[in-house]
Amino acid sequence: MAIKANSVEDAELTRRGLFGAGAALVLAGAARAQPAALGNGRPATVINSRLQQLSPNAYAFVLREAQGQSNLSISNLGCVVGPTSMLAIDTGGAPQHARNFLAATLSVGKPFDRVVITHEHPDHIAGLTQFPPGVEIVAQEETRAQMVKMGQPPTPPYWATNPAWGRPGDVNRVILPTVTFHDRMTLYYGDTKVDVVWPGRAHTSGDAVILLPGEKIAFLGDVAFFDVTPLNGSGYVADWIKACDRFLADPNIQTIVPGHGPVGGKAELAEMKGYLQLLLREGRRAYDKGVSAGRAAAEIDLGKYATWSDPERVAPNMARLYSEFRGTIGPDLDLAAAGAAMAEYNRLKGNG
Ligand SMILES: [Zn+2]
Repeated sequence: MAIKANSVEDAELTRRGLFGAGAALVLAGAARAQPAALGNGRPATVINSRLQQLSPNAYAFVLREAQGQSNLSISNLGCVVGPTSMLAIDTGGAPQHARNFLAATLSVGKPFDRVVITHEHPDHIAGLTQFPPGVEIVAQEETRAQMVKMGQPPTPPYWATNPAWGRPGDVNRVILPTVTFHDRMTLYYGDTKVDVVWPGRAHTSGDAVILLPGEKIAFLGDVAFFDVTPLNGSGYVADWIKACDRFLADPNIQTIVPGHGPVGGKAELAEMKGYLQLLLREGRRAYDKGVSAGRAAAEIDLGKYATWSDPERVAPNMARLYSEFRGTIGPDLDLAAAGAAMAEYNRLKGNG
């Protein structure tokens, strides 16, 4: 389905700069402090979504912005079907994304009894308010700790004006996980074994990946981005690459649902790993020469990755990588460092 926004109104809002901070930041409650710290993207006005059956009991709900728009806060969801109920994987980046998911999965015919959150970034948790009260919410323990820190974030203003995201009256609210795990837990939906696994530090401190070994399906959350630039806002690049290597070597993985972009497999994961390796290699070289993160991001040759959505994310990615080199890394977003790198990148690239 395609959801079309009121383009005249959106264009006007865009001109007035109300979108400039970007969805993730508005949700994080830091918009005014660091505009566009995590990229130049503006909320898309056309988002296409599709329920894709992967096996008799597993589906991906793939969301993608219209050509040329930003993937900012547009994430994929998943669904595993049991005899009497279903498991949801993530909740989308806005109320409307969750409503579209719930409507699309209605045809499968079972109620959701549980949601696994892959990590705490707003584009994966903002749809939780649309799920039935009492649904069990599972997350890795660090993800829950990060969600506790969010408190009550503001409601992005465009939820009321851009129908691809929400409607008037939608209110942003963080709903906390009711069950946490450290290393792993196993759920059963009928005969379908569902392993929920912490892959070690990767895209965040507390990622959860959902593996269906019997079906050779892996929902990797934002450990995987296909055709969309990975966002390293609170990641650990060296460890993230190692996590990719473990998934690439896992014989029980064939189909991979990324957090962003189309469903793929190991070839796509290896390609994404190449982005992280490029970032690490070129970032190290620049860091050792004393080049600033923003300049390193502006000067890197992204090659084929330059065509992926939101390539300017290389700036916050580099800022975070520099803290990894300095050994000052932690689970939180460093919006000041990301914003400084983004501003320098925009200046050097002539982005005004
Ligand atoms: Zn995401």
